[in-house]
Amino acid sequence: KKMSGAEIREAFLSFFETKGHKRLPSSSLVPDDPTVLLTIAGMLQFKPVFLGQAPCKVPTATTTQKCVRTNDIGNVGVTARHHTFFEMLGNFSFGDYFKEQAIRWAWELSTGVFGLPPERVWVSVFEEDTEAETIWRDVIGVAPERIKRMGAADNFWSSGPTGPCGPCSELYYDFHPERGTEGASLEDDSRFIEFYNLVFMQLNRKPDGSLEPLAAKNIDTGMGLERMAQILQGVPNNYETDLIFPIVQKAAEIASIDYTSAPPTTKTALKVIGDHTRAVTYMLSDGVTPSNTGRGYVLRRLLRRVVMKGRLLGIRDIFTPAVAEVAVRLSGPCDPAVQQNARRIYDDLAREEGLFVATLERGQKQLDELLAAATAPGGTSIIGGADAFMLYDTFGFPLELTQELAEARGAAVDVAGFEQEMEAQRQRSKDSREMVDLTARAGLAQLAAQVGPTAFTGYTSTRGNGRVV
Ligand code: ATP
Ligand code: MG
Ligand code: MG
Ligand code: MG
Repeated sequence: KKMSGAEIREAFLSFFETKGHKRLPSSSLVPDDPTVLLTIAGMLQFKPVFLGQAPCKVPTATTTQKCVRTNDIGNVGVTARHHTFFEMLGNFSFGDYFKEQAIRWAWELSTGVFGLPPERVWVSVFEEDTEAETIWRDVIGVAPERIKRMGAADNFWSSGPTGPCGPCSELYYDFHPERGTEGASLEDDSRFIEFYNLVFMQLNRKPDGSLEPLAAKNIDTGMGLERMAQILQGVPNNYETDLIFPIVQKAAEIASIDYTSAPPTTKTALKVIGDHTRAVTYMLSDGVTPSNTGRGYVLRRLLRRVVMKGRLLGIRDIFTPAVAEVAVRLSGPCDPAVQQNARRIYDDLAREEGLFVATLERGQKQLDELLAAATAPGGTSIIGGADAFMLYDTFGFPLELTQELAEARGAAVDVAGFEQEMEAQRQRSKDSREMVDLTARAGLAQLAAQVGPTAFTGYTSTRGNGRVV
């Protein structure tokens, strides 16, 4: 029998409980940390402990952490494995056990508890971390051809220019062992999926840039719950796991679409709706409110994308509360507070969706006028780039929508002109971001508040393995 998402979550947490870890609750998506906008990893609530700024209350802990990563928004529905909202399962050691123990348990959990065939698990190590490589090969017995060395960009973690840092080792699942080991690359996501990342916090970077061994070495790990569910449930992507698929199907039902036989672009739109609806549901529950700056803007953008995708699928009525109802129903084992906040969540969604739809309808009026002029005798039959950009910037019209509506009236859109305006906008926001950045290095949240809408995907953009906090 296939494990449900809830069973996978519970199996992870109770496995580490039997290994002496204290099960602790997820922290809020709104971090108690001014340097990040939203909680992007399980380690965030323990950062003060790792940095030596707070005493550790327990030597080891395990959690399932609600996370939102806006840097992955473009991947949602496109790759099989990326969400904006996801749960990160983690086991942590605060100066207690270290590398060999973490690797042994990761293996026991993956191949024992979750039953992954050992020959389907590949691992990456940081190229200079011969210790980890030796443990995987000689202690665990992973075949050398399934151990890949990777550079610092992927496999070295740090929390900033100075402070604790160290090499990582990741576990990947192989969907296509029949393709052989020759020339295989872990970056080939038609074959491999990263599901578990182990960070060995063993070094301290000093202000002069040099590294010294950390006195108390730490372990920080993260396993994507939805990814493990994809693997164990034998479905083609995270969206079709029991953790998310009922939300996707609800959206399909409202749009009168049969998901299974729908074309790929329709499936992508439904996946985006499923993903973003989860994200906004949990964000609203954690007290984020729609606004034009900071995390409130992240929320607003996510919800607007849901509404836009819905309209492109032909939905005309207010629908996000109905889709969110399914997300709320599924939320229990992750976060009991969501169900308590359900009423407020639906009200907030209905209000925000209504406001956005009103804006869209004003935009529609503008577009109608532009189209009337363009298609009048002697007109160009073209919506100019600046106008298309105005519709996007002021009324939230994505280019594809403007194009679709224009085509229906026999007109076209100056796409190159639109791209030019977009690029100019990007340049402007980049300039302002860099300007602010010089004065506010240590305060990204503050920075986000100042820069507002223009920095949407920028907050968590990182070097390294995407876990800079
Ligand atoms: P990827 O390389 O696939 O983008 P990552 O290296 O950025 O993943 P980590 O920062 O190592 O991810 O996070 C730890 C774990 O959390 C990953 O191994 C993965 O299982 C999960 N995870 C990370 N980002 C996402 C996401 N956007 N959606 C779902 N799960 C994620
Ligand atoms: Mg990783
Ligand atoms: Mg990775
Ligand atoms: Mg990533």
